Amino acid sequence: MAALTNLLDLEPAALIRWCGELGEQPFRAKQLQRWIHQFGEADFDAMTDLAKSLREKLKLHATVTAPAIISDNTASDGTRKWLIDVGDGNAVETVFIPEENRGTLCVSTQAGCAVNCRFCSTGKQGFSRNLTIGEIVGQLWMAERTLRREKGVTAGPKGERQITNVVMMGMGEPLLNYEPTVAALKLMLDDNAYGLSRRRVTVSTSGVVPMMDKMSGDCAVALAVSLHASNDVLRDDLVPLNRKYPLVELLAACKRYLEFAPRDFITFEYCMLDGVNDTDAHARELLKLVSDVPCKFNLIPFNPFPASGLRRSGATRIKAFSQILMDAGIVTTVRKTRGDDIDAACGQLAGDVQDRTRVQERMRSLDSYQQKYGADFGRIVEIPG
Ligand code: SAH
Ligand code: SF4
Repeated sequence: MAALTNLLDLEPAALIRWCGELGEQPFRAKQLQRWIHQFGEADFDAMTDLAKSLREKLKLHATVTAPAIISDNTASDGTRKWLIDVGDGNAVETVFIPEENRGTLCVSTQAGCAVNCRFCSTGKQGFSRNLTIGEIVGQLWMAERTLRREKGVTAGPKGERQITNVVMMGMGEPLLNYEPTVAALKLMLDDNAYGLSRRRVTVSTSGVVPMMDKMSGDCAVALAVSLHASNDVLRDDLVPLNRKYPLVELLAACKRYLEFAPRDFITFEYCMLDGVNDTDAHARELLKLVSDVPCKFNLIPFNPFPASGLRRSGATRIKAFSQILMDAGIVTTVRKTRGDDIDAACGQLAGDVQDRTRVQERMRSLDSYQQKYGADFGRIVEIPG
């Protein structure tokens, strides 16, 4: 028998085509898509308004399977982190950040990352593989379904939604896994799936210029760009991709993107590294650099990990740096560190065996995973503020 198709792998147009191959009309695909993504249903027999004959076909040919959960931890501030098994000893992180009037899910797009930024523990792990569409959107499917069921909300589309915003700021570089990322985005935006507005879905990139242009035509969601430096010499060192797409090209691409973007600014992320990129002179250089790009800044206090050789800037330094940007009229936020007690922050689960205490601590909470895979963990993502 042919392998079952995982329907989480099919973006809206692909599901219509697939249903067509089964002899079904496009409206059936929409019904099916609503069951899967709006109601979080995986059991075809529960899809009561589908004809019995279709349900039988579905059982024969398809499945709805999200990647397995290795661990599930909630911090005292409500931040919740799932470690997701993506096979072959690879794991990625999905983090839910509840706030008063929104719930944000931070999803991963790759196991590991080839960009190898100096301050990022995912980069230090190297690149393992791209996540599939089903693995990317499956993080949202799993999280929304879990949160709803726990609240006793089993049905209903938008009104009952627990996740109102998605940020692709987990592990991996989304624009180096372009097609699956865009397919997953299309499902997030589709009214017969999650129906999120383009403003509420953010892709974060280290600056893959050609793919930024491509995304502006294919699926222009909100864009965050990981800047981290005020000149090319510094950025070449911190974000090696800068050698391929230097700042002048990156900032030009940001301006082009703004013509299509759902928001009228780009969010620049800037990781605050003590003595490296955080002086007043850097802030002033930054102002010149971005002077003609409508933008906001999100300063991220560096989350240290042992092998980085870098330190987080002090609170006073971060404040002084942000003041310079704000005095020039740029909206600047400092990212809150959330979920500290469950290590839901960048670089905390770097799998660095030199830090035995840390790793052993992790091992205790991830016992079954340890037995299966040893110390090969994914990175814990930073929490957007
Ligand atoms: N690859 C994409 C998205 C994932 S990283 C990108 O680089 O934009 C999400 C954000 O976390 C990026 O801005 C990244 O630079 C930042 N980041 C990575 N490691 C960090 C660390 N150890 N401390 C603080 N921020 C970090
Ligand atoms: Fe990759 Fe982003 Fe980490 Fe850089 S910061 S290594 S691009 S995940």
